[in-house]
Amino acid sequence: MMYKIAVIPGDGIGKEVMEACLNVLDTLDLNLNYEFGEAGDECLKEYGVALPKETINIVKNSDACLFGAVGESAADVIVKLRHVLNLYANLRPVKSYPGTNALFDDLDFIIVRENTEGMYVGEEEYTDDGAIAKRIITRHASERICDFAFKYARDNKKKVTGVHKANVLKKTDGLFKKVFYEVSDKYNDIESEDYHVDATAMYLLTRPQSFDVIVTTNLFGDILSDEGAGLVGGLGLIPSGNIGENNALFEPVHGSAPDIAGKGLANPTAMLLSAVMMLKYLNEQENAELLNNAILDTLKEGKYLTSDMGGKSSTMEMANQIKNKLL
Ligand code: ATP
Repeated sequence: MMYKIAVIPGDGIGKEVMEACLNVLDTLDLNLNYEFGEAGDECLKEYGVALPKETINIVKNSDACLFGAVGESAADVIVKLRHVLNLYANLRPVKSYPGTNALFDDLDFIIVRENTEGMYVGEEEYTDDGAIAKRIITRHASERICDFAFKYARDNKKKVTGVHKANVLKKTDGLFKKVFYEVSDKYNDIESEDYHVDATAMYLLTRPQSFDVIVTTNLFGDILSDEGAGLVGGLGLIPSGNIGENNALFEPVHGSAPDIAGKGLANPTAMLLSAVMMLKYLNEQENAELLNNAILDTLKEGKYLTSDMGGKSSTMEMANQIKNKLL
């Protein structure tokens, strides 16, 4: 089967990890037809727009999109793409892999982050003495994301934890918490619980093994998933999927990392694991498994790792090792 894959490398290490990823994907017995789209800081500098209409259309017309990372223009690119294409569920798995600097070696949970509203609606305005940001929580989006989390748990996990700050944000997160339990009533075979976001931040450090599926609003999900990255060895290891009714986009959780860009230091694992998520989404289970195993074997062996994992290999050297395992 032929798949139309939109590819947006973006800026900084986004371009480097994307090149490494496509190089590895070439090895699989798959018919992937790539359409490249420009977006990000460099695109803004060159064409005066961070996310051209053509790029949006390439993603719209694709079976799935692979996205690298963008820099300062993230709000106008990835946040906008999530809105325009209604990619409402952001899945961020946190897994311990062998051979990494994980603080815990037994973690396997997922953060399901609401991706279209909350603090990221981009409605900010200046006042005489400062600025105001709008935080929007709707019943519709809360229901949709909680339902997604419980469905995911039914197929893959046992428990769903709703995370909010309903004691202070009584109207917005009060609604999110209420809807979470309404949805949980429809899934009485699945355990549910809820915590405030601050307590969750602590429990992620003290007993992260107790989590299965965390469902939360946009900003909380963004912050907790970087905490999750810290638990399992850093941002270079965490993939993500942005899933909507008609489109899906897969990207590493990390940004364009200007501090290491252009030096061949970027860990390609998060990008490659995002490709694994994409293959699963496309129902290419066998290829997803092959790629996943090649990544895990390379991590376990520990001979070809990038410097964030204590190794000496470059982005391409590590990717080539993964590729060799697939030949
Ligand atoms: P964003 O807000 O766009 O997510 P960020 O502020 O979280 O970006 P990143 O660009 O993700 O920042 O980088 C955070 C830190 O993690 C930097 O020190 C960067 O070098 C490191 N880092 C991020 N991704 C990788 C990677 N793939 N390999 C190695 N180090 C990485």
